[in-house]
Parts: sequence; C-alpha cells; structure tokens
Amino acid sequence: MKALRFHAKRDLRLEEIAPPASPGPGEVVVAVSACGICGSDLHEYLDGPIFVAVEPHPLTGASAPLVLGHEFSGRLSAVGGAVGRFAKGDRVAILPHLNKAGDYFVRRGLGHISDTTALVGLSSAYGGMGEYAIVPQDNVVRLPDGVTDEQGALFEPMAVALNAVDRGGVFAGSSVLVTGAGPIGVLAAMAAKAAGASRVFVSEANPARRARLASLQLGYEIVDPTQPDFASAVAGMTEEGLGVDVAIECAGHERALADCIRLARRGGTVVQVGIFVDAPRVDMRLLVSKAVTLTTSWGFPITIGPRVVQMIASGQLQPEKIVTGRVRLSDAIAKGFDELARPDHDHLKVLIALRD
Ligand SMILES: [Zn+2]
Repeated sequence: MKALRFHAKRDLRLEEIAPPASPGPGEVVVAVSACGICGSDLHEYLDGPIFVAVEPHPLTGASAPLVLGHEFSGRLSAVGGAVGRFAKGDRVAILPHLNKAGDYFVRRGLGHISDTTALVGLSSAYGGMGEYAIVPQDNVVRLPDGVTDEQGALFEPMAVALNAVDRGGVFAGSSVLVTGAGPIGVLAAMAAKAAGASRVFVSEANPARRARLASLQLGYEIVDPTQPDFASAVAGMTEEGLGVDVAIECAGHERALADCIRLARRGGTVVQVGIFVDAPRVDMRLLVSKAVTLTTSWGFPITIGPRVVQMIASGQLQPEKIVTGRVRLSDAIAKGFDELARPDHDHLKVLIALRD
C-alpha cells in the first residue's frame, strides 16, 4: 500500500509498504478515507522527531520510520476476533490514544494523561497517512450516516477543542475569549458557541488569519491583540466591562497568556491549551489578586468520543468549516507539508484524501 512515512527531520517519504497484518483479537483495520495534517505533524517534519518514537515504544514496539497521521476517518476493512461492537464496512473516526491495559490513569478513564500511552500516527506503525491502519477497537468511534468522512477526519482536533471548553466550565450565556486563530483556536470558539456561550472573542495577531476567519462568518468577534486599545475594547464588550468568564489560550504564546489573564474577569478561568516552545513568564500576582483559576487541557478523555460525533451529527459543531485545502497522498508533501511550512500561508486545515 502507499503511505507517507516519517524517517527523520525534513525526511518524509511516500513509499510502498506492506499493509497491516490481519487483525488480532480486539483489533480492526481501517481503510483510511481522509486524514488531517496536524500542527504537530508539521513540527515533526520541520524539527522532529519530537513525539515520534525513535526507540521502540514500550507499548507498541513501533519506531521511525512510521506512518504519520492521527486525525483520520475511514471504513473498517477487517475486524479481528472478539470485536463485538463493530463490523466490516462500519465508518469510523479514530481516537488516537493507545492505552496500556491496567495503567493507573487508564483504569480511571484518563489514559490521555498517562505517560504509558502511545499515539496512533506518532508512536504506532500505522497512522492515517497510509491506505490502511490497524488499531484496537477501543480506538474507533462509529460515524452515523449524517457525518461525512471529512467531518470524521476532524473528529480529533474537534475533541481537543471541546475538552478545552469543558475544562474551562463554559456554559449557556458565558463570555469567552480564545487567543490564537489556528485550527484548535477556531474549533474551541466553535465548541464554546455550541456550549451556549453568548459572546465569543477570538484574538489573532496575524492579519491573514484574521481575514480567513472573518470570511468563514462563524459569528465570533475577531480582534487584533496588537492594537493599543485591544484590552479595553474587549473588556468594554463584556458585562459591566469586567472581562470574560473564560479565556482559552490556544496560541502557546507568552503575550497571549498575559492577555487571557488580563481579560479574564475576577474569579474567572483561564485554560492553557497551546504548547509553549519556551517557558513563559506569568504574572502570578495579577492572577492571584484577581482570584483567576488557571487550568490546562491536554488531549481529551476517550469518553468524549460519542458526544463529539453526536454534536457533529446534530449540526451543533461544523468542523469541516475549517478545511482550507485538500490534497492527494501523492501531493501531500509538496502541497500539504511544504505549503504549511511557508510562514505566510493562511491555511487552517489541510486534509489528505486517501481514496477517490
Ligand atoms: Zn493533532
């Protein structure tokens, strides 16, 4: 089968490799339909290996070269023994956290925060940028007819975003600031709206990204954090000018975190989602004196799967709106990865189509 494999930094190869073996007990083989290129995939390409296993992963035994891709959907082409809940032909999306049975956190439904967990497409042999992938049945969620393959390929980042909104305690009528209009930021704004937020502000310093987001007409207040009156303008649009109930930081940027702390109302919540390259300075005096809760969101619990699928099926979440590019596997390096590596690109999400 054809697959895009990570060998080393700046060394992705489109190769002909052996497809996965017949599924063992509890395993399923997915004929991949579509796979998103995640920011972390791009980081692996430009600066990796970061999360890609170099030594055989203790759980999966996999190491580079391996097939990238953890945001994908497809159709089950084979199911192993002891797979009761799924049948060949079922359409599914992937939950990429591969959990170690018996692990302390896995036993509590928190495998996503365990350090024994592996990830499909980063520390397993077969990710979504190949024609077939093999995963345990616990790592797929069924897609109803009303959910498309493209929506299924966006399940994973959508789940990351919804978990961030959950962690922030967004509910009906909340006011929310999201910093950073990358894919996770835009999906977090979408999830906040779906959770009932009455006002959603999205701050983004890059004018091309602001324009792109404005063109999607999703109903957010798009604001420029580089403007001198940025903080007072946003605060002025909140209840009694006090600031937002919840701020969700998706940029991994020191100034964006400072904006979140400054613009959260007293007693509000800041959720850190973006990953920092360097350790940021944080104004703890301001944070403490405002009694703001600073929390984090990392991945999502496996239990969120059916909820995300139902929210997409009902139309509450429309993750396909962030798709700005579609490429074939044969073009994925030149028109996907290399395009996203250009500093001036204005893409939100590029999907790789694995089948016609
Ligand atoms: Zn990702």
